[in-house]
Amino acid sequence: MIKQKGNIMDLEAEVVYNGLCCYCGTCGAFCKEYITYENEIPVTKKKCHEIYGACYDFCPRTSFAPFEVERAVFGATRTDNLLGYYKGDILTARATDEAIIAEAQDGGVVSALLVSMLEQGEIDAAVVSKTSETWEPEPFVATKREDILAAAGSKYTQCPSVLGVGDAFEQGYKRVALVGLPCHIQGMRKVQLSTGFDVGAGRVKIQIGLFCSETFEMSMLKNKLEELGTSIEEVEKFNIKRGSFIVHTKAGDEIKTPIKKMSECVREACNYCYDFAAEFADVSVGSIGSEPGWSTVITRSDAGENLVKRAEEEGVIETKKLSEEQIEAVRNLASYKKRRNLKNINDKTGTVRILNMLVEPEMLEQFLSV
Ligand SMILES: Cc1cc2nc3c(=O)[nH]c(=O)nc-3n(C[C@H](O)[C@H](O)[C@H](O)COP(=O)(O)OP(=O)(O)OC[C@H]3O[C@@H](n4cnc5c(N)ncnc54)[C@H](O)[C@@H]3O)c2cc1C
Repeated sequence: MIKQKGNIMDLEAEVVYNGLCCYCGTCGAFCKEYITYENEIPVTKKKCHEIYGACYDFCPRTSFAPFEVERAVFGATRTDNLLGYYKGDILTARATDEAIIAEAQDGGVVSALLVSMLEQGEIDAAVVSKTSETWEPEPFVATKREDILAAAGSKYTQCPSVLGVGDAFEQGYKRVALVGLPCHIQGMRKVQLSTGFDVGAGRVKIQIGLFCSETFEMSMLKNKLEELGTSIEEVEKFNIKRGSFIVHTKAGDEIKTPIKKMSECVREACNYCYDFAAEFADVSVGSIGSEPGWSTVITRSDAGENLVKRAEEEGVIETKKLSEEQIEAVRNLASYKKRRNLKNINDKTGTVRILNMLVEPEMLEQFLSV
């Protein structure tokens, strides 16, 4: 990927103040001396010299070249426009370890793969997302089974997970796994493919992506919980299933609200994301398409394929092929997100320049179809 010219001021103007910052942590992960985060946006701690610019170069929201990344990472471009490039069958799977299932969001596949890689010595650390009692997610460098179990489950507010990769490198880990949403994976791929800055990102050996429709603003989520008659402190687990946002409370209640009613809580930057299925991960995992207690698994790279195959052979996970009908459910949700957010992107975009040609984005397809 070509080095992009820009510095922290450009990042602020083009991304932060343009409503595009997704708080993935990529800009500050390898530049902690200069960048910190306040109210979930990057700020400079001290004046950074303008020759720097890793923050701008690494940010998945300054620019992202999907096909260039696919060629570089997978050696080919996508054949499936909604789900991205993948290898072999799309699977439904679950962990065989009951202790993992008990803590996990769905089939526990993500946690089972991480535990297995740590125990086999394939990785020495995994960056996951941990929360306190009040559900504020924080990146966490896990090195053992108990750490992975303690961080299992979905947090529907944003976690700057890539900061955890910076932490893992600082702690000396050399074979690191990252679990992240599509934005984290896009950021990490940009770091790995940067020609301008080398932070040793080859030490991230495997990236497990989570399907993602959106994340919520914590303050808005807290308000919504109050409206629903509960509070963040009372939440045991969050879930999104069949068009409903579901809150399981510590008292054992289940509170449901239509997911459409959560739209006011969605982070602004999520409205400009066109990646549902974590299209640039080695392995992507989500719930849509699978039965309750199972996860949908898409393998994309050789590393991802080997990992899932080995986990199955060793009995770490059990798998079945996902039916065409179930795959269609995954595609439908991906299509819904892409259509909605590409319209938002279109509305925000000015004229597009291709060499000397200037075209309004909504006219581009019509103009180029000859
Ligand atoms: C914000 C969000 C939105 C999602 N939206 C959808 C959706 O629309 N459709 C769908 O099918 N699936 C969605 N998922 C994925 C789904 O909720 C499960 O994470 C997935 O099925 C994996 O389940 P599992 O039991 O294998 O994971 P587990 O074994 O429970 O492991 C989950 C891993 O993800 C990490 N993690 C949790 N939350 C975050 C976070 N916010 N950022 C980074 N890492 C995190 C945990 O630390 C843990 O390592 C979403 C997940 C999240 C976090």
